[in-house]
Amino acid sequence: MGDKRHTITLIPGDGIGPECVDATRRLLQAAGAALDWEVCKAGAEVFRVGDATGVPRETIDSITRNHVALKGPLETPVGFGERSANVTLRGLFELYGNLRPTRELPGVPGVFAGRQIDLIVVRENVEDLYAGIEHMQTPGVAQCLKLITRKGCEKITRLAFEVARSEGRKTVHCATKANIMKLTEGLLKRTFEDVAKDYPDIRAEHIIIDNLAHQLVRWPEQYDVIVTTNMNGDIISDLTSGLTGGLGLAPAVNIGAGVAIFEAVHGSAPTIAGKNIANPTAIMCAAVMMMRHLGEFEIADKVEQAIVCTLEDGKALTVDLVGTEFASSTDRYTDAVIANLGRVSELWRVRQRHPLRMPETPRRPDMVKASSRREMGIDMFLEWTGSATELGQGLERVVENTPLRLKMISNRGMQVYPTAAPGTDYVDHWRCRFMLRDTKSDLADAHVAELVARVGASHKWMHIEKLLEIDGQPAFSKAQGES
Ligand code: NAP
Repeated sequence: MGDKRHTITLIPGDGIGPECVDATRRLLQAAGAALDWEVCKAGAEVFRVGDATGVPRETIDSITRNHVALKGPLETPVGFGERSANVTLRGLFELYGNLRPTRELPGVPGVFAGRQIDLIVVRENVEDLYAGIEHMQTPGVAQCLKLITRKGCEKITRLAFEVARSEGRKTVHCATKANIMKLTEGLLKRTFEDVAKDYPDIRAEHIIIDNLAHQLVRWPEQYDVIVTTNMNGDIISDLTSGLTGGLGLAPAVNIGAGVAIFEAVHGSAPTIAGKNIANPTAIMCAAVMMMRHLGEFEIADKVEQAIVCTLEDGKALTVDLVGTEFASSTDRYTDAVIANLGRVSELWRVRQRHPLRMPETPRRPDMVKASSRREMGIDMFLEWTGSATELGQGLERVVENTPLRLKMISNRGMQVYPTAAPGTDYVDHWRCRFMLRDTKSDLADAHVAELVARVGASHKWMHIEKLLEIDGQPAFSKAQGES
């Protein structure tokens, strides 16, 4: 055991959080962990007193001081606050990686028992749809911006390879939907392929995310490290926790360059909160990860072995693992784990690890330099209840004798003008693509202003998007059916 004491920010959280966190604290104390806790608030109770962020200043200051937190699940009560306190914490400390290990535990029944599942999902944690940039485009059409950056992709893919190295793993799969979203999801794929060259000791494979979902429920044992975008990772990591016994067993860490917040994958499970029946193992395993992060490998191994021995004994398991008839309470399960401190399972080998080296990534905002770029047109998004032909012909007249021409109109991504698919079910939200007639010239602000003034005189528009050519390639997607 290291001699050093560590001060940890402790956020009990909502629902089953406080009971699971208390059980974990009791276990760590019994194991001899030299920890001092700073108990802080976040989540529902903070929203309820009118703090719309769900994370008070004292909590932010405590994490800033301590660099490490153990956190129960946080919920956003309906009617209070707009943003999740979890998402806020991840953004505040740039916790760009979410590591979610899944390993078959001896004694835990399940469809895949005996298959030796042992994988880790590395989920990008701050970008993608979770940036939460949403707008109603018309009263009946909503939009969420999916922001994926080269910088974010570089950080998360390097982290995945570093995780592989630190845990002695051999393969990293990058899971994307790059076949459909070639620019956003494709950016992760391209970055992964570039970054993989710096890790020749690790096998790098790309897989389409839906195929991964299928493969995971057929042959989950083939996966080692899976790196993916925020939304994909959120879903896939719940799936992988289900493979080995469920959310009650699944730990996670939100990690960035300077701060790590350890938690369970599960949420506040309000239906079982306060009943002393929740399974605290997920947060206990998160605490094991935390102890390793602090360099306290001996304590971590001891607690991990005690948990494994308790599950293996199967005499004091919680309701999620054995059903109501044979279930033990949270407290009784915790007592059993504590009683098993010092035991070593014959079925469990603690994975040998080197400390995780957090990757260095350039801090400059403009990581990618283009050798050439040109602005070649504008997508203008309009609200319109008439037909595609009326809209198209009307706009052709509006831009007659101007530097821009109407190239096409799409509705929910399908081209509907000048030609349309017969089965399109129209909504009142239209993308109208205007291109410069002179293909050698660059779009000027005056062109944009003129277009907005002309179209705006007769049509309701809600946003415009410039169409770029970067390094000689169009840097925007085509509509389905667009030539
Ligand atoms: P959830 O809280 O994870 O619960 C889903 C179900 O999983 C529960 O109803 C329960 O199943 C089971 N479960 C989860 N953890 C368990 C445990 N430790 N022991 C035993 N069973 C457990 O998901 P949710 O109901 O979708 O979310 C509830 C709230 O939590 C939401 O406000 C959500 O936003 C928040 N949330 C927070 C975090 C976080 O803080 N990191 C993560 C996810 C969700 P049974 O009903 O079958 O008993």
